[in-house]
Amino acid sequence: MIGERQDLMEKVTALSKRRGFVYPSSEIYGGLGGLYDYGPYGVALRRNIRNLWWRHMVDLRDDVVGLESTIIMHPQVWVATGHVENFTDPLVECRGDCKQRFRADHLGSTDRCPVCGGPLSEPRRFNTMFKTHIGPVEDTASEVHLRPETAQGMFVDFKNVVSSMRVRVPFGIAQQGRSFRNEITHGNFIFRLREFEQMEMEYFVRPGEDGRWHEHWIDERFNWYVEVLGIRREKLRLRPHDKDELAHYAKASTDIEYLFPFGWGELEGVANRTDFDLRAHQQHSGEDLSYLEPDTNERYIPYVIEPAAGVDRIMVTCLLDAYDEEEVRGETRVVLRLHRDVAPVEVAIMPLSKKKELIEVARQVQRTLQPAFRVEYDQTGGHIGRRYRRQDEIGTPYCITIDFATLEDRAVTIRERDSMEQERVPIANLLDRLRERFA
Ligand code: ATP
Repeated sequence: MIGERQDLMEKVTALSKRRGFVYPSSEIYGGLGGLYDYGPYGVALRRNIRNLWWRHMVDLRDDVVGLESTIIMHPQVWVATGHVENFTDPLVECRGDCKQRFRADHLGSTDRCPVCGGPLSEPRRFNTMFKTHIGPVEDTASEVHLRPETAQGMFVDFKNVVSSMRVRVPFGIAQQGRSFRNEITHGNFIFRLREFEQMEMEYFVRPGEDGRWHEHWIDERFNWYVEVLGIRREKLRLRPHDKDELAHYAKASTDIEYLFPFGWGELEGVANRTDFDLRAHQQHSGEDLSYLEPDTNERYIPYVIEPAAGVDRIMVTCLLDAYDEEEVRGETRVVLRLHRDVAPVEVAIMPLSKKKELIEVARQVQRTLQPAFRVEYDQTGGHIGRRYRRQDEIGTPYCITIDFATLEDRAVTIRERDSMEQERVPIANLLDRLRERFA
């Protein structure tokens, strides 16, 4: 069973490369650990994931606003929050033959190297923030970090948002963007990366109401995976953190986990960060970061509930959850049963041959559908079955085929991905018919 599951990760990794979702970064130079590039279909899939998050976290609500803050921030930001001191993982090194490095907390209770069986060093704290320098002089005074989370932007800009927008507690600030962690061990494809993308929202509440809002956001976020992304509910679970694994800033935290081929892994953490960050920044910056309740004139530092998700982990989850193989007329058909809202292409349009008359009609159909759907035009002229298989492998819900009969009856064939059933539809009704099917 484990072998079978690991096999699934290998298959998805291979498909991702073959079909233009994910490539190893700088591959012609041998790649670089924990870094990946996203190809054309990967970009489309990620854009859909981000848009669906933004739609549900910001656009469909009136209590959350957006922000884009910088990746490099003032060095004091990370001193104030304790990241310089505490954003560390326990590193152990093999003293035997292989000399590999591991995260002690990933190894369990063993004191032997999992690769060569050699003895392990004592754990030491390793800070996973990347360092660089700002300006031309590379001394310690010019040292800055690449952010390891997007969240600090929301805390540092809290006062600006409150004074420039008409927000009232409870309200949230949301951000999507790159974060960087010099992970000791990377791996499991794009699960653990050194450069990755986060989608985080800091929701500011009255102290005392934090417990209720924490529960609210745990529910809300769990349902998003099932109802909006179409991830199988039975592959998801909630895991509250034990007290000893809480991050230094959190009072409570619950992970939303997916059953990956290598076991349960975190997709998103929903944490109660209390007033830790605002209080720390107030103290270090000297700025008053309290909030004045307009109705009661009460002043307080809000508590914060934070749902923090990663685009890359959601992406690999979508691919794994959707991957399916079935036997069709003696051949294996690989199909990604992606939810239509995340599928890179919604409708593929294929003239049966490269004949001018067919291409003209196919281009017309493309122009009609393009404003309504994510459309791909495929005129490669290869065997139609092979072109369907290619669309199956990237998860396209519908293919539209324009054939010679189209020139007579002004109708086309809709072919559905999951059932492979076909329906003949007049071009004049095609847009409405597809809207109905997608509804
Ligand atoms: P882990 O325990 O797996 O290292 P974490 O608890 O440190 O993760 P958080 O700090 O809660 O992660 O980050 C929020 C989200 O950001 C995670 O749920 C995950 O989706 C994403 N994330 C964190 N680290 C990475 C990484 N190295 N690669 C890809 N995504 C990541």
